[in-house]
Amino acid sequence: MDRLHRTVVMDEFGLIGTYLKPLARGCGPALGLGDDAAVLTPPQGHDLVFTKDMMIAGRHFFADDAPDLIARKLLRVNLSDLAAMGAAPLGYLLGLAFADHLDPDFTRRFTQGLRQDQTAFGIGLYGGDTVSGAGKLCLSLTAIGAVPSGLALKRSAARAGDHIWVSGTIGDAALGLRCLTGGSRREPHLIDRYYLPEPRLALGQALRSVAHGCADVSDGLLADLGHICDESGVGARLESARTPLSDAARRIIGDDRDLLAIALAGGDDYELVFTAPPEKDSLLAEIASRLAVRLTKIGVITDGAGVSLLDSDGGVWHIDRKGFQHD
Ligand code: ADP
Ligand code: MG
Repeated sequence: MDRLHRTVVMDEFGLIGTYLKPLARGCGPALGLGDDAAVLTPPQGHDLVFTKDMMIAGRHFFADDAPDLIARKLLRVNLSDLAAMGAAPLGYLLGLAFADHLDPDFTRRFTQGLRQDQTAFGIGLYGGDTVSGAGKLCLSLTAIGAVPSGLALKRSAARAGDHIWVSGTIGDAALGLRCLTGGSRREPHLIDRYYLPEPRLALGQALRSVAHGCADVSDGLLADLGHICDESGVGARLESARTPLSDAARRIIGDDRDLLAIALAGGDDYELVFTAPPEKDSLLAEIASRLAVRLTKIGVITDGAGVSLLDSDGGVWHIDRKGFQHD
């Protein structure tokens, strides 16, 4: 431990210098966090893509969660938004609002998590702001990415007749949260998926010029597919029996329809749900095998509006999503 770690009181500049500047080292736009703002020269022929997600202690994470895991999830949920747009990440801005006073110990462990993931994803810290006295620990991250001009994937581009696809498995994070809150027995795979989503960046980029509508699954499969439908002015028919479930999710769900409903309506999976015309089926199979990402066809886009979910007998299954809504 160096002298600063042992000092209980650390001012904003000490905190920035000790923990944040190292995350900006070698990152051109950051100007070493020594200036008032970052300066980014956009990559030629690209559009810039911006997204921000905020997390509040006690609402979006448990106050006693490991700070490095909180950091990695905060970064990854933002990268997932970039993935959903088909963008490659460049860097990020960080907002730290401490409940009471600046907390060097939290910051040290939080920035360790950021360092691990920013290295893994090849990005750097561009800047941010640090305040105290917010009442609750509030974290905010803005991620910036780039996509070849005009090729960003949009929620608004789904068309009737498209097949609906989803990556990975669905429901793990919502069921993992249930494990953590005592609602189900502990399944480590589900808990890991809740804490550490995998942003589907390579998939998002491979879907440029292939997918029509695309979104990441943050609010739940039904809600996020609903957003694609609303933005595109189409409807969707989804077959619940086709939902890709992990072995751990399958073990927890058994034949409990309420738990399957949690998988379909719960959030936080950070998979991609997208639509593509049927003639792209074989290309999508190739992309799935090249990237070693499971892709599952779960339904079809229709004329009309809204998502209609079919149960395993082909009947319409109405899931009340109110119990699952979060922001
Ligand atoms: P100002 O008061 O001019 O807004 P600050 O003193 O807040 O600037 O910040 C000084 C530098 O430190 C800036 O480059 C800013 O981007 C950076 N910085 C402050 N807080 C953070 C943070 N939480 N994460 C990353 N960079 C930060
Ligand atoms: Mg400031």
